[in-house]
Amino acid sequence: MKSLDEYRGIVSDDILAKIYNKATKLNNKHVVNISSTYQGGGVAEILHNLVCLMNDAGLDFGWRILPGTQGFFTTTKRMHNALQGENVNMELIHKDYYLETNEKFAVFTHISHNAVIIHDPQPLPLIKFMDKKQPWIWRCHIDLSNPNKELWDYIKTFILRYDVVIVSDEQYKRKDLPVEQRIIMPSIDPLSTKNMDITDEMIKSYVELYKIPTDKPIVLQISRFDKWKDPEGVIEVFRRVKKEYDCRLILCGSAATDDPEGVEIYHHLVSNNSDLLESGEMMLITAEDNYMVNSLQRLAAVVLQKSTREGFGLTITEALWKGKPVVASNIGGIPNQIQNNKTGILVNPHDFDECAEAVLRVLKDKKFADKIGKAAKEYVREKFLITRHALDYLNLLIDIL
Ligand code: UDP
Repeated sequence: MKSLDEYRGIVSDDILAKIYNKATKLNNKHVVNISSTYQGGGVAEILHNLVCLMNDAGLDFGWRILPGTQGFFTTTKRMHNALQGENVNMELIHKDYYLETNEKFAVFTHISHNAVIIHDPQPLPLIKFMDKKQPWIWRCHIDLSNPNKELWDYIKTFILRYDVVIVSDEQYKRKDLPVEQRIIMPSIDPLSTKNMDITDEMIKSYVELYKIPTDKPIVLQISRFDKWKDPEGVIEVFRRVKKEYDCRLILCGSAATDDPEGVEIYHHLVSNNSDLLESGEMMLITAEDNYMVNSLQRLAAVVLQKSTREGFGLTITEALWKGKPVVASNIGGIPNQIQNNKTGILVNPHDFDECAEAVLRVLKDKKFADKIGKAAKEYVREKFLITRHALDYLNLLIDIL
């Protein structure tokens, strides 16, 4: 378990002093987080880190998982897609699965905490089945700027019961929601196994373990196999890039247990791109391993994030922290992290040529790539490390408790 002391030298003493000071005001307060998976995706990534830090600061900050069946997660993934603006057939959203799973969880989960933090839509209805005695916070990690109207109207039934809603960006605040809405941006943990400094020997050992070829510059996207992450688009861009520059594409996407669509998308990619796979120009990795992700991000010549929707995009933050040039879509929460041509390059996700040009630019111009990489690391240090995130939560909890 990490302790706050270990962040000295990475962040300012000032921020650590503030965390100790605020946490004293919440000493022994018992807070529970509820999400739907311990593994895969940004929410699990953040909670693994934040929970340790908040406990070290002196709170009892717990985390429970809402278990669900395949049917439940298929429905909640459709909800996720519809909330991000996809035109979903509402008859395929099984409200009975959604409600029954939460109702059952409410029976065997006893909540007597001082505050409850619910993450994303999966456990959102829990509040309806509980005897609410404390503030409840709904922490929404997804892009809510253009939700499917019918679904939004339905889930509002539950959101209205909450005391505070947290979103990741100003544009996700909803004017039609009469509940206090605050912005807390996500973060990465510079000391986690995914982000900590690792030696070249260690990187080499992961290269050998996963048989990652290093004879050509690597163009990398690390993301669940999800249509919003646009892996097909990444491949289209790579096909353009490789005509001008000899390089290799690596797509790394482990499966999240609450995302049943990944396997299908993966098989689709394999069958549509056998030429790239057979020639070794593209490699797909499905293993889940933080050290391997860390190594890949450090090995990459350029990191892509060609999402067409992205609430924030921790994979971008992780690459920026490693001083990598990142080419990413100018959508959702991404421009919060990437100042165009300063901390990375922003592109139109629907313009493959523009995206390929940006990738080629950083592949060819090492000086420029280094310059934006250095600026990117300092930008993350200032804005997107877990210590700032912990402070935001402490301020919120002090306000509501
Ligand atoms: N991730 C991983 N292995 C993978 C794919 C993703 O460890 O194969 C991690 C990634 O490093 C990041 C998180 O999952 O920490 C994804 O968070 P992000 O906000 O980028 O996207 P989300 O999956 O939450 O939409």
